[in-house]
Amino acid sequence: MPEKSSVDAVVVGAGPAGASAALELARAGRSVILLERGPFPGAKNVYGGVVYGRVLDEVLPGWWEDAPVQRWVTRRSTMMMTPTQALTIDFRTEDWGNAPYNGMTTYRADFDAWLAGKAVDAGAQLVTSTVATELLRDAAGRVVGVRTDRPDGDIRAELVIACDGVNSFLAKQAGLLPQTDAEQHTLGVKETLALPRKTIEERFGLSGDDGADFEILGCTGDISGGGFLYTNRDTVSVGVVLSLTGLAKSGRRPEEVLADLKAHPAIAPYLRGAELKEYSAHLIPEGGYRSMPPLTTDGLLVAGDAAAMCLAAGIWLEGVNFAIGSGLAAGRTAAEAIATGETSRLTGYRKRLEDNFVLTDHKNLQGAAHLVLSERVQQQYPRLLCDFAQEVFTVRNPEPKPGLGKLFRRTAARHGVRLRQLAADAWAGFRIFG
Ligand SMILES: Cc1cc2nc3c(=O)[nH]c(=O)nc-3n(C[C@H](O)[C@H](O)[C@H](O)COP(=O)(O)OP(=O)(O)OC[C@H]3O[C@@H](n4cnc5c(N)ncnc54)[C@H](O)[C@@H]3O)c2cc1C
Repeated sequence: MPEKSSVDAVVVGAGPAGASAALELARAGRSVILLERGPFPGAKNVYGGVVYGRVLDEVLPGWWEDAPVQRWVTRRSTMMMTPTQALTIDFRTEDWGNAPYNGMTTYRADFDAWLAGKAVDAGAQLVTSTVATELLRDAAGRVVGVRTDRPDGDIRAELVIACDGVNSFLAKQAGLLPQTDAEQHTLGVKETLALPRKTIEERFGLSGDDGADFEILGCTGDISGGGFLYTNRDTVSVGVVLSLTGLAKSGRRPEEVLADLKAHPAIAPYLRGAELKEYSAHLIPEGGYRSMPPLTTDGLLVAGDAAAMCLAAGIWLEGVNFAIGSGLAAGRTAAEAIATGETSRLTGYRKRLEDNFVLTDHKNLQGAAHLVLSERVQQQYPRLLCDFAQEVFTVRNPEPKPGLGKLFRRTAARHGVRLRQLAADAWAGFRIFG
């Protein structure tokens, strides 16, 4: 890294947000340093495993030709569980197994390195094993670069883009994010388990490069959250997402909750004999639209998880595409601002995000996390639906078959679910997702 370097922009964090921001700046002909604390982009980054690629079409046409894909997701299942039951909505389509593809499973170490490589190809300077430790400001308080942990390693820049992930140190230092905010975060814990490729294909009913994505509700006991199970080529990823406050209250260890999910009768057969390759844990910003910080201050833009742009809305747990979408918007805004010398007024950034899916989706789905994490959706409804399914499928002849309406009302009463409350939640869900 050049000492006391001076560049047009410095982007902190080479995750998907940072790589996309740097790519846009470099393509606009701006000098940009992409700073990463890990030895390479994605070295330690944690997520479940699925990336939806549509956001890449515009910037990297034909991205699927060289993206580091494990499997193309052609099967998506939503599972509702009690400790002994599971009710699954299982969807599969061959369409997603062909270009332009809907989603892929990919390892972060591969994906982040690939995306950052695109920024480097476009002219960005990637500096790894280097931590941004402080924002540099001028006498007027404007952000003018970052200090790093290298000796004499200040980087001066017209603009800084903070893409340093959840709990962004830079956004906190700029006064945009509160210091602590447990209510707005969940903890994701994940295991990567090795199984022979053929075994994965047999167990999940897959062939070739097809892959499966299971999202699970009702699998985290009395802690609000959810679970996931994804297939890679010769590993599977299984994990849970847990409310931080719920976890603290429960006194349970996250790995116990994950062990329970792995032992569930609907999950255990998929994992039998698998060998643990990796255990990891990471925070997730779950607060969504309502907890987003201001997105800019004088000389600084914030993108991706650093700006709480991860979408956790029950059937969707997506952060990578929102990180890419916001990184691109931040990079474009920064390039424009540098070209016009308007680096203080960065209002175009929010406008760009409002005009694309990033803020539109977050705004539309802003009540989703609250609803999905409610006790009723987490505990009562999975139990009700699983029991209802069990009643429907239990054959009791010579007793005559019951009417489904009556059966449902009876099951709801047994679980203490008031139909009026259920209707209110269904209506709330329809308003949020409809
Ligand atoms: C368990 C779990 C499961 C998930 N599942 C999915 C999923 O399946 N699909 C999906 O789309 N999303 C998923 N997410 C969310 C997704 O991981 C994030 O939304 C996404 O990674 C955000 O990208 P980002 O670039 O903003 O931040 P990050 O990916 O966190 O990147 C931040 C980068 O900044 C670097 N950095 C941090 N501080 C500094 C510093 N001071 N100096 C230099 N470098 C720094 C880090 O090393 C890192 O490389 C999941 C998250 C978790 C935890």
